[in-house]
Amino acid sequence: MAINNNPTFYSPADLDQAVTMLQDLGDGALPVAGATWIMRAPTRGEKIADIFVNLSTIPGMHDIDVGEESVSIGAMATQDAIAAALAGHSDLAALTVATGYTANPAIRRAATIGGNIATVDFAASDIVPALLALEAKVEIIAPNGGNMLSMVDFLAKRRTLGRSSLIARIVIPRQGRISTHSRITLRKAGDYPVANLSTAISVREDGEIAAACVAVGGVEPVAKRWTGLENTITGRKLDAGEIRDIAADYADEFSGRDAPGVPGWYRLRLLPVLAEKAFRFIQKNHA
Ligand SMILES: Cc1cc2nc3c(=O)[nH]c(=O)nc-3n(C[C@H](O)[C@H](O)[C@H](O)COP(=O)(O)OP(=O)(O)OC[C@H]3O[C@@H](n4cnc5c(N)ncnc54)[C@H](O)[C@@H]3O)c2cc1C
Repeated sequence: MAINNNPTFYSPADLDQAVTMLQDLGDGALPVAGATWIMRAPTRGEKIADIFVNLSTIPGMHDIDVGEESVSIGAMATQDAIAAALAGHSDLAALTVATGYTANPAIRRAATIGGNIATVDFAASDIVPALLALEAKVEIIAPNGGNMLSMVDFLAKRRTLGRSSLIARIVIPRQGRISTHSRITLRKAGDYPVANLSTAISVREDGEIAAACVAVGGVEPVAKRWTGLENTITGRKLDAGEIRDIAADYADEFSGRDAPGVPGWYRLRLLPVLAEKAFRFIQKNHA
């Protein structure tokens, strides 16, 4: 495949200008963030775009604001910067793990949260299930204005948003829950996960689960909430062994995606293991 070694880069002054540029340039142009997905287009058998609109110089897009009520993360914040900013906040730990312990250090310094969640064909994202479990919202700036979407709605609309719709930032409500992220890879830590699971739960003083969000990635083409498990464990005592059994009963909520070397049935088998791992961690760390 021929690769254009001299693509054209545009550097907009702000988000609105970036949106206008992308609209004017049409389908040949692509927004570029950390480029860690874009640069591997040839390995996926895809053509690299000829024209890029560079988001890295837009003021404010790298900002991370950890507030008492919510956290705002600019789309250009890197995995590394997010993990550092959220460290020590147990309610946000799903995202800390998903950003701080995946890929490898060089990639974590370049790959952005916006680039990660914008990538429609990336089934194994660790960040997407973490944001689902944390009930995050995604701010989109499009030619016809701005919009704040829940993660669920964003994922449902993602493929149809169009190249001139940009993710501006992610907002996570702080709900005083305890969260974590678990993942299983085929060979080594830096690999994409075969399956992953993020949780955010609140536990009453008597050990009963008051609210539960559980999201699964890697298993289906797009990550989703595990509602059967969430509904069944809410109101029960936090017991990782029992949750593993419940998870096995509700694994049929998913259709495992087949890929070379990883059959779909294998991904489904991992779900109870991941659920037990996550809830054992929460059980241990719940004060
Ligand atoms: C070896 C390796 C291992 C990895 N392992 C993992 C892993 O285990 N888990 C994980 O979650 N990630 C992992 N990643 C990261 C992931 O695969 C992507 O490379 C990364 O998240 C993309 O981010 P980026 O900023 O580089 O995006 P880019 O490559 O710049 O862009 C990706 C796509 O998003 C679009 N885009 C970028 N920013 C925006 C925006 N603000 N609004 C709208 N569209 C936008 C681009 O046009 C492009 O289509 C790994 C990467 C590598 C190279």
